[in-house]
Amino acid sequence: MPALDDRCPFCPGNERMLPSIIMETPGQGQGNVDWQVRVVPNKFPALTPGVDQARLKEGIYLSMPGYGRHEVIIESPFHNRDLVIMSREEVETLVEVYHRRYVKLMREKQNMMVVIFRNHGPRAGTSLVHPHSQLIATGLVPGHVRLREREAERYFDETGRCVYCDILEFEGLDRRRVILENRSFLAFVPYAAEVPFEIWIVPRKHRAGFGAVPGDEKIDLAHALQEILAKLHARLDDPDYNYVINSWARYKADEPHLHWYLQVRPRLTTTAGFEIATGIRINPSLPEQDADYLKGR
Ligand SMILES: [Zn+2]
Ligand SMILES: [Zn+2]
Repeated sequence: MPALDDRCPFCPGNERMLPSIIMETPGQGQGNVDWQVRVVPNKFPALTPGVDQARLKEGIYLSMPGYGRHEVIIESPFHNRDLVIMSREEVETLVEVYHRRYVKLMREKQNMMVVIFRNHGPRAGTSLVHPHSQLIATGLVPGHVRLREREAERYFDETGRCVYCDILEFEGLDRRRVILENRSFLAFVPYAAEVPFEIWIVPRKHRAGFGAVPGDEKIDLAHALQEILAKLHARLDDPDYNYVINSWARYKADEPHLHWYLQVRPRLTTTAGFEIATGIRINPSLPEQDADYLKGR
């Protein structure tokens, strides 16, 4: 791929194709570009600010207008500079920008959740190849997230412990599913992974919200994330994937039973009839074997 593409809205020189620029970080002096990471509004937003959040009843149905924010985080000025080939410092800057936008948008009290994610490849939903992540702030907490909260709360009530801290402890001792670790993170294939090569990058330090993460932990996250993506790239030939930062909703940022983490889901299999009917996932791969394979054994 070329370093610049004159039809790409995220490439430098094509700013006229962007709605506006929300923020950017200073450039590293490469290619005479004066920015490195740039945040812009999504031109085709899933959710928009400035709309009423009132719930509407229509017969037995409930709806609400699509309030929220939808931003694109352009990870590099260079069209072909995917996260796996960036310098460590570039990935650190990217994680810093994730954090800054997260904190900034969570300060707006109408935002109940901020979700940061990256779609890589067509099967993961990417329409533009230029390296980018996205951020969506929502005005509600979806049932999917409330279910995870409730299950973690139930575990806490029964045991007095955070389920994620217990998983960390168990995986750290068991070792069979661990792929890598550093000072602040343990990365492993979850015991009941829903898809082949699913990976969780979990901070050792208990914190419910991504917003409270300090500087050294952000640097360690950048390194763990890049290493994990490099392993997927090398061992699975650059698979399509999504990753998401699962942080917790407003008013839940200090809970003793909630623990933020980053989840990577390669797109190697397809959801079919059985999954639609039952919600049960068929994972044709064993987590322990996936972990060994990624480690190069
Ligand atoms: Zn581009
Ligand atoms: Zn915990």
